[in-house]
Amino acid sequence: MSLVNAKSNNNLKTKLQALVTAKDPTISFIKSAISRSDCWTSFSQIQLSKVSQDYVVCLSCGTVLKWISENGTKVMKNHGCPKKNGIRSITPKGRQRTISSYCDAQPNNYATIKH
Ligand SMILES: [Zn+2]
Repeated sequence: MSLVNAKSNNNLKTKLQALVTAKDPTISFIKSAISRSDCWTSFSQIQLSKVSQDYVVCLSCGTVLKWISENGTKVMKNHGCPKKNGIRSITPKGRQRTISSYCDAQPNNYATIKH
């Protein structure tokens, strides 16, 4: 019954998300000491009762993400932050849009753009 394990993992994430949202005092955010990537400016690692968790929180939208240090910043880059898209000030790119960036974006967003 490996499903049980997967479920309890999910439960931890759900629990952390609830605590983060409620700004629970048992939750604290720390900056990763290992990585100095730019991604960490918008994410913090989560501590629960002063114990570091394998989860990070997006400081823009408050979403809890599963994070494993070996994965580096991959999970952060993959996070399609709704707030970040709205503000669009975090990355200085956008001057020069490549074809591939159009392809990666959701086509629906560009449906209104005249070709
Ligand atoms: Zn976010």
